[in-house]
Amino acid sequence: MITRDVLAKALDKRGAKLECPVCGKKEWLPMGISGELETLVLMPGVRADTGGIAGVVELDWGYPVAGFYCGNCGFVRLHRLDALRL
Ligand SMILES: [Zn+2]
Repeated sequence: MITRDVLAKALDKRGAKLECPVCGKKEWLPMGISGELETLVLMPGVRADTGGIAGVVELDWGYPVAGFYCGNCGFVRLHRLDALRL
C-alpha cells in the first residue's frame, strides 16, 4: 500500500528536495482523495496504442502520480509512481 511514509521514503531515497521551488516553503498538501491514498491522482495522458487522433487526451486513462500542492503559493508537484517504483 502506498502511504505518505512510503512516498516520503521513495522521494528521500532519490534525493528529492522538500522546499517548494517557487516560494521555498515546505507546506505540501495532498491533491487526491482522502485516506491512505490521498496523494494519488491520475494525470491524463495521450495513448499511443489506440489508433485515435494524435494529441487527444483521454480522461479515463493516464499516469498514476503522487500529487501535492504548496499550501503557501499553490504550486503543484507531481511524481510518477512507476518512476519511484511504487
Ligand atoms: Zn510554494
